[in-house]
This record gives sequence, structure tokens and C-alpha cells, in this order.
Amino acid sequence: MIKLLAFDLDGTLTQHKTPISEDYRKLLNSLSKKYKLLIVGAGRCKRIRNQIGDVPIDIIGNYGMEYCKYDSESGRDVMIRSVILPTEKEELLIRAQRLRERFGFFEYYGEPLEFHSSGCVTLPLLGTAAMLEDKLRFDPTREKRRKIYKDVVDAFPEYNVFIGGSSSFDMAPKPFDKLYALEDYLSEHGISESECAYCGDDYGVGGNDESVLHSDVKFIKVDSYLSTGKFLEDYLSNEAN
Ligand SMILES: [Mg+2]
Repeated sequence: MIKLLAFDLDGTLTQHKTPISEDYRKLLNSLSKKYKLLIVGAGRCKRIRNQIGDVPIDIIGNYGMEYCKYDSESGRDVMIRSVILPTEKEELLIRAQRLRERFGFFEYYGEPLEFHSSGCVTLPLLGTAAMLEDKLRFDPTREKRRKIYKDVVDAFPEYNVFIGGSSSFDMAPKPFDKLYALEDYLSEHGISESECAYCGDDYGVGGNDESVLHSDVKFIKVDSYLSTGKFLEDYLSNEAN
């Protein structure tokens, strides 16, 4: 019996950094009367809330470094956790440069690494100021990044590394990743892994939903956010439960 429905956001309920559709908002509102709802996202809680809109749903952001609880009385988010960890910038820049030299990604525009205020780091292979069309053309199948994924993981052992965006790697300080954050939430609410279903689109090697795929949580593989509504309807009508 499923008690919690958890979701990735970008690529699962909507396109990257885009508000969800009115239809999905209505479906989520209906589902909230039968299930606890949770977003487990890579971005900040505030951005996720702006995309989701008015839905009674708890939000985990930045791979668990942020956590907001929805307060049903006020209809507002209450920030429960906002972790900020220090970054050894100089050291990380040296390691990133070594990787660039080893694999031939010498040319980049803007900065070679992007440091986020939370302590998360992005390694944009084309640089922080690369043109969008160049980024989209760079690695649409992710093949280039999958080839060097293990080397990037080895170069940054204090981070969980994900293949993100169109041409970059996203890094969250250990132990933060989606499974770690989800398990923490489940134990807080006394819900077991088998009582949770999770929808995610990034379940391939190096994807930021991959950790959840390898757990006992029921994983619903999303290959287009347009088809997620079908799963939502199934859960609403109880057919999936
Ligand atoms: Mg996604």
C-alpha cells in the first residue's frame, strides 16, 4: 500500500525550469487528499515552489541540503533545513583543470567551475558562459559524459557526481543525494521504502534519480513528462495501488 508519492521535478512533471501545467496541478491537488506528496529536487526549494505553484506538497531541494514542509493552515512552506557547506575552491579548480587536460576539454567560455552558495558545484565542460546552442549540441546522448563519468567521480571523492544539464556534471557534497534525502524523509514520517512510489526521468547511469532506482522504493520510470499524468491518474483511481 503506497502512502507517499515522491517526484523529481524537471523532466518528470514539467520541462526544465518551467512551471507545471494546470492539469498536473489539479491532479496533484486531488492526489494530496489520498497520499502524502513530496518533491525531491536538484534545485533550490524556492525555485521548485515557483514551478509547482499552489499544491500541498513538501519539498526537498539541493539533493537534501534544503527541506521545506508545507504548512496546510497557512498554505506556506516552512524551511526545516538549509545546509551550507564550505568549498575548497582552489583545490577543486586544480582537479577540474587536470580533468580538462586529460580528456581534451581545454576550451571553455567564462568560468571552468560554478560554485553554488549551498556548497554544490557544477563542472560545465564548455564553461559557465557557453552559448546555449553549443551546449545543446555538445552531448545530447550523454555519451561523452558517460565515457568520463567514472573519472569525474574518482576526481571528486567528497562529492556525489551526476550527469546534469546538457554539457555538465553536477556535484553535491556527500552524503547528499536524492536517495539519502528521501530515506531521511521516510524515517521522519515512519514510512517504509515499500510504501513509497517515486517518479523520475534521470534513472540512467550517472543520472540524479539513479540512486532511488537501486533502492526498495517503487520506481516509476518517466521517459517523457507528458506521460506522467497517466501514472497520476492511475494512483488517483487506485488502480496502481
Ligand atoms: Mg529530472
